[in-house]
Amino acid sequence: MFEEAKRSLVEYGRRLLESNMVGGTAGNLSVRVSEELFAITPSGMPYNEIECDDVPILDMTGHVVEGSRKPSIEFRLHLQIYKNFSDVQAIVHAHPIYCGVLSILRLPLPALNETMLMYSVFVPVSEYANSGTEQLARNVVSAMRQSRAVIMANHGLVCAGESLKEAFDMCETIERTAKMYVLALSTGKTIFTIDEKDALEAMEFLRKNYGQRS
Ligand code: 13P
Ligand code: ZN
Repeated sequence: MFEEAKRSLVEYGRRLLESNMVGGTAGNLSVRVSEELFAITPSGMPYNEIECDDVPILDMTGHVVEGSRKPSIEFRLHLQIYKNFSDVQAIVHAHPIYCGVLSILRLPLPALNETMLMYSVFVPVSEYANSGTEQLARNVVSAMRQSRAVIMANHGLVCAGESLKEAFDMCETIERTAKMYVLALSTGKTIFTIDEKDALEAMEFLRKNYGQRS
């Protein structure tokens, strides 16, 4: 069951690897398939080897209800995001380099350009907790109340969206902006950010008007 969701995870897993936002088997992706169930990538499997049958389906208590593979060790993180944010339909967790730099500096990403404002007026850094723990899930959920993209302290990036495409595009956009920020910081010169009022207005405008919507 849920073949379409499984296929999309296989496809976006490969894209995640090609985009360089993960190395090896790091990162994970999931899609909500019903109010009570989600599909998630298996733990520690190379993205170019994952097939639809390798994708487990979990319920909201963390039990595997379909599939024989062990789910991502971050299943608690995905589960708690789905439980706390009913509009979230898909999640991408990556380890991109420039967000990684911000994650070890524990430096949030301020409003810097219009592309990131499609998603968030700033990207917070969640408090540190070890991989795979319930505490990590709690810390990310708490930061996600401010932004659907969150930098995880000394770890990586997690983006939650209304589709897998949106969550993936969000990761790419945030990483691109993080790269600009890190390069700008390295010059030692003054960094100018977009002020909060303008950033909020731009976000509302872009969300309503950007792209081919009717
Ligand atoms: P999994 O391979 O178990 O998904 O773990 C990768 C990861 O990024 C842990 O944070
Ligand atoms: Zn990780």
